[in-house]
Amino acid sequence: MGLTTDVLVVGGGPAGLAAAIAARKRGFSVVVVDGAKPPIDKACGEGLLPGTLAALRELGIYIQAGDGESFQRIRFIDGSISATANFPGDAGIGVRRTVLHQKMAARAVECGVELLWNAPVTSVTQEGAIAGGKSVRAKWVVGADGIHSRVRHWSGLHAGLNGERRFAQRRISRDSAMNVDEALREFPKLADNLRDVKLSSVQRGAVTATCRLDRVCRENIALVGDASGSVDAITGEGLGLSFRQALALADALEAGDLEKYQSAHRRLARRPLLMSRLLLLLDGCAPLRRRVLQSLAKDPDLFTGLLTAHLQDTSLRLLAEVGARLAWQLVTA
Ligand SMILES: Cc1cc2nc3c(=O)[nH]c(=O)nc-3n(C[C@H](O)[C@H](O)[C@H](O)COP(=O)(O)OP(=O)(O)OC[C@H]3O[C@@H](n4cnc5c(N)ncnc54)[C@H](O)[C@@H]3O)c2cc1C
Repeated sequence: MGLTTDVLVVGGGPAGLAAAIAARKRGFSVVVVDGAKPPIDKACGEGLLPGTLAALRELGIYIQAGDGESFQRIRFIDGSISATANFPGDAGIGVRRTVLHQKMAARAVECGVELLWNAPVTSVTQEGAIAGGKSVRAKWVVGADGIHSRVRHWSGLHAGLNGERRFAQRRISRDSAMNVDEALREFPKLADNLRDVKLSSVQRGAVTATCRLDRVCRENIALVGDASGSVDAITGEGLGLSFRQALALADALEAGDLEKYQSAHRRLARRPLLMSRLLLLLDGCAPLRRRVLQSLAKDPDLFTGLLTAHLQDTSLRLLAEVGARLAWQLVTA
């Protein structure tokens, strides 16, 4: 006989574990199934922005500076141009993906989530799914199976998928064959800083994409994290966005109305998607990128304003002010 649960989460990566913890905290019984076994590693920048750390705390997961390396600022470098801005509030933390996964899985167990590893899902129906060859019956199915989500296909939610992909080797490029050592030649100062550093894992590759879906839920199935559309890794927002989606999904499950999640998801993705598209525009247009970086280097307050707009849910007024200031700098540069 198979398992029966209120919520079945397909995918035990960061988004799936966050969705499971949030739903369990609302009193649902929750089973997470994943085809891999922990701790699950993945090519990821591993930067947790201040808002991401706040969302983790809401889930009861506390990442301390000692778990990794804290960082207080962002720097963009293009040849001889370098622009730096400090975070407006708390620092971020860079933490090994395996450490984050271990902490999240431990918190899920502490909350009473049932975790089934080595259990790949091969089909999803309205009654639940087949995981590791066994049937799991569920009232709600959450697809948290990453950027190549099969749940998205099985549920027909992939129809409105549109976006742009890039390739990453723990560094991001449009070239799928790029190698980290070759890429480092473009950044001699960084290469110098890394000269005596001991490698902490093998080189890993991944796809990153900026894409959105027309819909992220249908009947009793909802998508969360990269399965539900994603922002390019350059934003450093993928994890934070996944965690905020997980919290919004739990609200909708509690209300018994996935349409609430649909609208929250659209609202949450708006700002990171805008930033992602702006950064990719700069990536693809070198003359514009240099002008913008020169403006930011000349006016660090402007860069701080942009960073604040990226990191915090800011007012339209601040966005308009920062936009106008950047436009003025570009015209007068
Ligand atoms: C190069 C790179 C750098 C990045 N840097 C950052 C950064 O610095 N900061 C940040 O916040 N974000 C960053 N991101 C984004 C971040 O890594 C993703 O947004 C995040 O991993 C999404 O988590 P997820 O749980 O949705 O998907 P995943 O982490 O991909 O997890 C999906 C899980 O589903 C499981 N699965 C898949 N199919 C099945 C199946 N059929 N049955 C059962 N299980 C299945 C997989 O085993 C996996 O465990 C980066 C991404 C890349 C590619």
